[in-house]
Amino acid sequence: MSDVTSSTHEGNSKKTCLIIGAGPAGLSAALELLRSGGAVRPIVFEAAPQPGGISRTVVYKGNRIDIGGHRFFSKSKWVTDFWASLMDMPRRSRLSRIYYLRRFFNYPVSLSIDTLRKLGPVRTLKVGLSYLRARIAPIRPEKTLEDFMVNRFGRELYKTFFRDYTQKVWGVPCDKISPEWGAQRIKGVSIGAVLAHALRSALHIRAKEQETSLIDAFHYPPHGPGELWEKAAEEVLRLGGKLHLNTKVQKIRRADNGWALELRGADGLSYEAEGDYLISTMPVKELVASLEGVNVPESVREVAAGLVYRDFITVGLLVPRFAEAALRASGGVLRDNWIYIQESDVKLGRVQVFPNWSAEMVADPSLVWLGLEYFCNEGDELDRLSDAELRKLGAVEMAKIGFIDEGSVLDSCVIRQPKAYPAYFGTYERIGELQDYLDTLPGLVCAGRNGMHRYNNMDHSMLAAREAVRLILSGNAADPAARKALWAINAEKDYHETEGKDRNKD
Ligand SMILES: Cc1cc2nc3c(=O)[nH]c(=O)nc-3n(C[C@H](O)[C@H](O)[C@H](O)COP(=O)(O)OP(=O)(O)OC[C@H]3O[C@@H](n4cnc5c(N)ncnc54)[C@H](O)[C@@H]3O)c2cc1C
Repeated sequence: MSDVTSSTHEGNSKKTCLIIGAGPAGLSAALELLRSGGAVRPIVFEAAPQPGGISRTVVYKGNRIDIGGHRFFSKSKWVTDFWASLMDMPRRSRLSRIYYLRRFFNYPVSLSIDTLRKLGPVRTLKVGLSYLRARIAPIRPEKTLEDFMVNRFGRELYKTFFRDYTQKVWGVPCDKISPEWGAQRIKGVSIGAVLAHALRSALHIRAKEQETSLIDAFHYPPHGPGELWEKAAEEVLRLGGKLHLNTKVQKIRRADNGWALELRGADGLSYEAEGDYLISTMPVKELVASLEGVNVPESVREVAAGLVYRDFITVGLLVPRFAEAALRASGGVLRDNWIYIQESDVKLGRVQVFPNWSAEMVADPSLVWLGLEYFCNEGDELDRLSDAELRKLGAVEMAKIGFIDEGSVLDSCVIRQPKAYPAYFGTYERIGELQDYLDTLPGLVCAGRNGMHRYNNMDHSMLAAREAVRLILSGNAADPAARKALWAINAEKDYHETEGKDRNKD
């Protein structure tokens, strides 16, 4: 660790940029600085023992876990070129269905004969009538996510396919969530869009470019998303950047010509690092709490402290095969990459079938390696369960919904991901106050998902990182007006369309 301090003072002819976090945003910022001529040298500090952040791949006895299933897709050529510069990623076709009433429903929900048959005549009638009602007398103004969805799908379809799952994800009912979340994540979805998609599929007409890439196919590294981010980390080092893993940023202070970090390494000792610029991808709530000797207005501290997150647990489960019941319901084989579990008698939210993402995700290809996904809040009932209890819960629930045979689990493990989802409630409606304040801190730029408290995919996190680098290299990192552009990333319609058709996948 001793080179942490010395490297920041290197020669003093070159400027340095300290980067907090080696997730997609932090690594993209570091590489962009290095590839832009190296006038500003990046030094990355990562609390975890491996790079990749939420987009890392965890290896358990040779079996790989992707925290959520990361599809690589983007409308941005810069992003796709960036990925291609690091490795060739095979293109995969996508299948993800909804499991409800112990049956599989296509996603995007297609109003096909098959769907209607599975729903039954009474529910189908209700779906039709409530949709008509929503068209004739929509809820105005839309005050909640529930209003947003009911207006687009009708109350019955909303109740059938969206309500319970969304509540599992967020832990609060849809009538307590801002409609802004719907506008950002499911904007393009409506009955009209669903019907158009169904018609196009039936007539074998290719949809517009972004819809096809979104719905039917994506790229994915053979060994999971972490493979790409590990390559990014190697490239940072190859080009002369520095990366310190197992190094947590504890405190952030102003220095004479920039910023100083108080760090804690794996050895438990504290270190200092100074740099001219600072890019932070750590949760903005923690960033503000770490600022020392900086006069942060009380109201801004209040907004930051009131930001809310949703945590995420993956139970990895190794089984010899799927149970007959699931295979029968699925039509003989189960090719889904992931399955939304809409059933309300289990806490399970989603199941990843990792070998369907890439055969290399499982050590023994004759076995089935699954990721059972649970959403929780720090300190709640689920979060408090021990790993052993979670492993048991996963096995019991999977048998209950007919996916695996009781007692068939060969091995299991638990991965916990705190702050997986930045929530659009809590003090979120006052986030503008926080952004305005942060823009007044010269040379400190926030980027990324939790770094900006924005529901970003990898590409948006990377684009924000690129913008942060642009601000620094153009000398605009101290100009509050110029910094506004960064907050606009993933607040534009153009970006939303990419994700629009995709429920709340992430
Ligand atoms: C369930 C799920 C599914 C998803 N699916 C997709 C998908 O299919 N496609 C897609 O593009 N995106 C997907 N995403 C989003 C993707 O994971 C994120 O957009 C991306 O990882 C964000 O990158 P980031 O660098 O901004 O943040 P992170 O990945 O959170 O990285 C931040 C890093 O900062 C480090 N850090 C935090 N605090 C400190 C500190 N004090 N000191 C040092 N280091 C610190 C963390 O350890 C972490 O490594 C998904 C996310 C989830 C939760």
